[in-house]
Amino acid sequence: MLFKSTRSESVVSFKEAILKGCPLDGGLFVPASVPDLRQFFLYMDSVTSYTELVSAISPSFLKGDINPIAAARVVESAFDFEPEVQQLDEKFSILKLYNGPTGVFKDFGIAYLAAVIEELNNGKAIVLTAARHDTGVSIAHAFHKRKNITAVILYPSGPIRGLDESAFVQNGGNIVPIQIKGCFDDCQRIISSAMLDRDFAERYSITSANAVNIGRLLPQAFYYLYAFVKLKGNITDDLVFSVPCGNFANLIAGLYAWKFGLPVHGFIAAMNANNSFGGFFSGQSFNPAPAPIVTNSPAMDVCYPSNYERVFSFYQESPAVMKNMVFPEVIDDATTIKTIRSAWEKFGILLNPHSAVAFAAAERAFTEKDSGSHCVVLATGHPAKTADFVSRITGQNINIPQKLAMLKNMSTPAALIPPELDAFESAIAAVAG
Ligand SMILES: *Cc1c(COP(=O)(O)O)cnc(C)c1O
Repeated sequence: MLFKSTRSESVVSFKEAILKGCPLDGGLFVPASVPDLRQFFLYMDSVTSYTELVSAISPSFLKGDINPIAAARVVESAFDFEPEVQQLDEKFSILKLYNGPTGVFKDFGIAYLAAVIEELNNGKAIVLTAARHDTGVSIAHAFHKRKNITAVILYPSGPIRGLDESAFVQNGGNIVPIQIKGCFDDCQRIISSAMLDRDFAERYSITSANAVNIGRLLPQAFYYLYAFVKLKGNITDDLVFSVPCGNFANLIAGLYAWKFGLPVHGFIAAMNANNSFGGFFSGQSFNPAPAPIVTNSPAMDVCYPSNYERVFSFYQESPAVMKNMVFPEVIDDATTIKTIRSAWEKFGILLNPHSAVAFAAAERAFTEKDSGSHCVVLATGHPAKTADFVSRITGQNINIPQKLAMLKNMSTPAALIPPELDAFESAIAAVAG
């Protein structure tokens, strides 16, 4: 499969797109050609496991970069967790994407990326990522013990939680957390500058595992196909997905799944009060708000989505698809809370606030235009991540799985450095030895 930048037409392989992270022109990698995967997943059924599905389809992405046996090895080593599909009634199902190490869907893309970098890379490499919240833990989990790879995780200064110190380089592992005297944007800026310093990047074989790496995004298309495979025997209605949107990676991955042949009839782009993207889907220009509004679904408090150029390029290619397949819905905090309560009362399911935004959007879209559709709601975060909040609303005790409880452990990073490229490059040189 080939990729191109959102800002140019020259193509690169999956391998190059993954190892570069971003095109040098400042755009983002998007698919330039798309494999038709129907021959694989139309014949799968509800007993097909997630790893079977991904093993069958992923060689199509990696053709020319690695052989089918290596592609299967990547899948086996990536996933020690699976998505889970639960049908609630004839109208709704939920797709639980929170069984990974940090309890959010982002674990899926990160796990696949780490395994594929290990397979594609020859020689030693250093993988850089800027992290906030639990992304660093997900990166550390996915890259731990990967052959010849050192994973450097750059944090804004402040408490760092959830990392396993035995994985750190000084304890014989391959994970290096570094703190910057600055904010998350400083971390991102330093990593971008390090990637653009060609001499430096080549000397240490630097790549990045940041959120917009296509190697993190594309694997998120797999679980849309998985939901279809699990449900197709039970439902005859048109399939719609409701997706809680922040930086729009999940929605884009769904649109790519459609390009791969997924028989889907629409996507509900569920947003909280930060809906600067809403009008865009119906053809208005994109008018980002100057600052995000704080809501009870904070991972979606984004006013300038990092996947903006991907959504925009999809729109330019297929405006009719965007208009007829993507339905924006905006859900306020009060409705989110009401939905957490009603989903518990009606279906006995516990939703975290992000998933509840998608659930509320699905319910609203369905009452407005009662179509003959079945809606799969993406549950993107584990209810235990906001246990107190969900517990207060539903009156239920929330069980906190062991691995999520460990996210609260504090750790001491190896270094605290000023927010400057020189300091960062010296720290990397020290790690590389
Ligand atoms: C990151 C995140 C989102 C937003 O997903 P995008 O792909 O950025 O749109 C939604 N819910 C949860 C729990 C998240 O962590």
